[in-house]
Amino acid sequence: MVGTDAREVTRPGAVNAHTHLYSGLAPLGMPAPSRTPADFVDILRLVWWRLDRALDEASLRAAARLYVAEALLAGTTTLVDHHESPAFIEGSLDVLAEEADRLGARLLVTYGATERNGGLAEARRGLAECARFVRGGRFARVKGLVGLHASFTVSDETIREAGVLARELGVPIHVHVAEAESDVEDAKRRGYDGPLERLLALGCLPPGSIVAHGVWLDADSVRRADLAGAWLVQNPRSNANNRVGYPRALHASAHVAVGTDGFPADLGDELHALDEEAARHHDPADLATLEARRAGGLRLAVGFDEGAARDVVTGVPGERPREVVVDGRVAVRGGALVGGDLGEIRAHAKEQATRLWSRMAEIGDG
Ligand SMILES: [Zn+2]
Repeated sequence: MVGTDAREVTRPGAVNAHTHLYSGLAPLGMPAPSRTPADFVDILRLVWWRLDRALDEASLRAAARLYVAEALLAGTTTLVDHHESPAFIEGSLDVLAEEADRLGARLLVTYGATERNGGLAEARRGLAECARFVRGGRFARVKGLVGLHASFTVSDETIREAGVLARELGVPIHVHVAEAESDVEDAKRRGYDGPLERLLALGCLPPGSIVAHGVWLDADSVRRADLAGAWLVQNPRSNANNRVGYPRALHASAHVAVGTDGFPADLGDELHALDEEAARHHDPADLATLEARRAGGLRLAVGFDEGAARDVVTGVPGERPREVVVDGRVAVRGGALVGGDLGEIRAHAKEQATRLWSRMAEIGDG
């Protein structure tokens, strides 16, 4: 073949097992918080919960398009997204699906139902958006799950309803669990041993569920998640950046994958951070376990669609891929997107980012 490099190899596509497409505009000059956040929940309040409330359809679409584009160009073929946009709930999952579909990536989406802005009614709208999307089933490479934001922002009633809905639809749950110690303390205050045990007690962790973080789960809880058939997803850069701690007990599960949690889309950077953080925190997992964790995303993706195993990336190791093929279709050719122009996508994203930052300023620290 003309122009191919003898150093090139073909490998399976990378799988980002937990991320937030809605944060795709954040690297484009998102304003710093008005004061230094005191703790993890303060980071959420001052940064991410302000960003998600400011999102509308146009800014969400631009964020998703940029994030998916950069993921594909870095060799990621499946993205597992956890979404929230309280001012634009109904139809939001279609926007994410349309953008992934246009560029040719596989996507697992969910709306993370929460009560933190509008109580039980808000949570029900989030769950209804998941149900609407799953029942619609109009995207071949996009699958919908039922989602909760996190144990500490929902009532027992919402957790129960999410569990019933997931069983009804025959899909698992995607939820943040024990990202910070405060989530564990909250579950204990509500009378449970912890947030994972709360989900299990309320019938809300069907097999195949995706549990992001688990930083504050002990080995017994991690084993419980594994026995329930759930995946745990480690997010090394996010955990280090938010100073929430290191998930030391994940070695107790055979089902662990890696995600970027909204950090820039190159999974290679995340896996590099995994090695660094594992060494820095003396992760008790042995090398084989850490290797399985690096490859966990692909096993997770195949559980939803066997076709994910046939998605391939070709290029020189350590360089940007030359070709990315998803579901038999070329999504990246000659290092460029087939379904869009990166320059145009970036220019549009910058325009939308400017609008989004002014909406965030209007919202204030709320
Ligand atoms: Zn997350």
